[in-house]
Amino acid sequence: MQSKGRQNIEPAPTYRSEFQRDRDRIIHSTGFRRLEYKTQVFVNHEGDLYRTRLTHSLEVAQIARSISRTLRLDEDLTEAISLAHDIGHTPFGHAGQDALHACMKEYGGFEHNLQSLRIIDVLEKNYADFDGLNLCFETREGILKHCSLKNAAKLGDVGERFLNKTQASLEAQLTNIADQIAYNNHDIDDGLRSGLINIEQMRNIPLFSTQYDKVMWKYPDLKGKRRVHETIRRMIGEQVIDLVETSRERIRIVNPQTIDDVRRHSEQLISFSDGMRAHNQELKKFLRENLYFHHKVYRMTRKAHQVIESLFDVFMNDLRLLPPGYLASAREALIEEGLSGQARVIADYVAGMTDRYATKEYSRLFGVKGGVF
Ligand code: MG
Repeated sequence: MQSKGRQNIEPAPTYRSEFQRDRDRIIHSTGFRRLEYKTQVFVNHEGDLYRTRLTHSLEVAQIARSISRTLRLDEDLTEAISLAHDIGHTPFGHAGQDALHACMKEYGGFEHNLQSLRIIDVLEKNYADFDGLNLCFETREGILKHCSLKNAAKLGDVGERFLNKTQASLEAQLTNIADQIAYNNHDIDDGLRSGLINIEQMRNIPLFSTQYDKVMWKYPDLKGKRRVHETIRRMIGEQVIDLVETSRERIRIVNPQTIDDVRRHSEQLISFSDGMRAHNQELKKFLRENLYFHHKVYRMTRKAHQVIESLFDVFMNDLRLLPPGYLASAREALIEEGLSGQARVIADYVAGMTDRYATKEYSRLFGVKGGVF
């Protein structure tokens, strides 16, 4: 696949495609490594076996690549978008993002998708010739899954599809659904492992019970985590097959010849069947009510809010508490863009923290002994 190019012109890679180079730059980035210590649902140090943003991103990439190859899309582009799709996440998962968004309310807000783009375009500072990773247009556009119209207007070419209300590329559409397949399934696994949800509850969810019954019929004596794993791998398989077959049929009928045909189509070409979409909605609703809003998860969420809000406020009120690099940037931004510029630098600093770094900073600045969580 031909790329529309990079913001800074560079010679073509010798033995790699442009999108392979993008993928490699993402893997070598600081933001990517930090995903290892950022929460998906459970705070990073609650247990060593739970998913983190890093293992989540790897699962998304693995699912998306298989489908991409089957549908003959660009597998390298799919992988690059998948690996970077969560790179802008704050510590403490969605709780952290909500808290930071509230802190930034008067200063333009905080959107993790936009932050992903900011990291790969501006905040990574490892290359001699440019800030950011200088990725291809297609990778950058694919990473920007959602965006408010106000922000899209400021983004130039990657914001256009939001303003024109057109579809994303097939690779970006695919990554978005692979993300859902990954988290729905691994959250069941983590949820069961944590004991916050149980098999009896899950048996009311058709997507789970259909596969669970098949496993129990074939292996009546199978117990514990093998039984769960056998069920979940079949669930992923069923969803992937549905997605491949539905999307392949849609692509056959619409027969897009160019990216513009994909963009202008009235609906997404990469899609579940209606039945599978309904099953997925039901599963999502269950996880929201029983896992994400479980009182034990909620307690963690409250503390995450407190940590993020306190850090943001303390830096806003006294810039000298920032590390020297951020202090210089915050002072410069204050002169050039006023208080929202200063707030943005602080948001960058806080958003870049891992769960444990944020917890440590909180303990150091507020003298809390014995840990926060
Ligand atoms: Mg994700």
